[in-house]
Amino acid sequence: MTDEPRPRKILSLKNPPTRPLGPEPIRKAAPPPPPPPPPPQVFAWKCKPCGAGFNVGDQLADDVVIRCPACNAKIGQVADFRADPTPAKLRARPVKPAA
Ligand SMILES: [Zn+2]
Repeated sequence: MTDEPRPRKILSLKNPPTRPLGPEPIRKAAPPPPPPPPPPQVFAWKCKPCGAGFNVGDQLADDVVIRCPACNAKIGQVADFRADPTPAKLRARPVKPAA
């Protein structure tokens, strides 16, 4: 007796999917816009050694020594900042406000 294997029926899709099957890709929400940059800080003084800007508090006593917040240079006493004209030993120059 012959035992020939029967030809297999070939399956084919009539309408193949245009995209791979699976769940819909999740669309990522657009990232929130970056926060606006802070407004430029206005400094009344500029450190002579390094050029960093800083302010001298109005409520400070005259004998308080001001140091540069950036380079820590000893700039002068509060009284020197209040003198007009500023003494030459003061290691800072006044920042002229932009007109
Ligand atoms: Zn400095």
